[in-house]
Amino acid sequence: MTVRFCSLASGSSGNCHFITDDSENLLVDAGLSGKKIQSKLLEIGIDPCRLTGILISHEHNDHIHSAGILSRRFNIPIYANVGTWRGMEEKLGKLKEEHIKIFETGKIFEVGDFIVTPYSTSHDANDPVGFSLINNGVKISITTDLGYINDEIIEHVRDSNLVVLESNHDEEMLKVGSYPYYLKRRILSNLGHLSNDAAGLAIVDLVRKNVKKVMLAHLSKENNFPELAIATVNNILALNKMIVGEDVEIVLAHRDRVSNLYEFSK
Ligand SMILES: [Zn+2]
Ligand SMILES: [Zn+2]
Repeated sequence: MTVRFCSLASGSSGNCHFITDDSENLLVDAGLSGKKIQSKLLEIGIDPCRLTGILISHEHNDHIHSAGILSRRFNIPIYANVGTWRGMEEKLGKLKEEHIKIFETGKIFEVGDFIVTPYSTSHDANDPVGFSLINNGVKISITTDLGYINDEIIEHVRDSNLVVLESNHDEEMLKVGSYPYYLKRRILSNLGHLSNDAAGLAIVDLVRKNVKKVMLAHLSKENNFPELAIATVNNILALNKMIVGEDVEIVLAHRDRVSNLYEFSK
């Protein structure tokens, strides 16, 4: 059994990740246009007609944009908690009753052989979650859009083969940048987005909890550079005597193109 993972895109203009065990073909978030998601799936050799479900982390548009369209087009269910459904129902348009799947934050549920745990994150949405998905001993966790990381989240994502972790902004770039004051405050707040520094410190904890690979995601276009995110994280790991490439592998999700396709098996 092999689990494959690919980030189709990640950033404030759209988030969508693909995960498959060849029987279930799932999207985590659908924040790009339906057309883009379909063409990106084809790019990695996946026929979009084979999609089997969409998990939604929270109702912001960069995570739900084409969820309704894809559900209707491919006849597939959407999984979200009550708060997220309340926030997105109208935008998604008419859905079949059987495609409205409701999970409870903190409570595991199954999608085929995937055992999914949605855990609470701190972000300015109704009931935002991160996900960990376990399938025959392979564990993949996705944690973006959060103001800070706490021990509870670290425990949820520990032992993951891959953690997709937000590394949104460089704090200095954000502070001196052109964003209006209210937006800077929102991003820096506990309900905003994780900085490169915060991601680096979180990765130190994750390495101690047996995480081998981390994908930096949801990078800001205005307030970050991929090279800067990687350098910041690498520095913090080095300060903690951790060696990138040996103790942990750091890879990137891109704002506008697909990531590598990663394979995991037990
Ligand atoms: Zn987002
Ligand atoms: Zn968000």
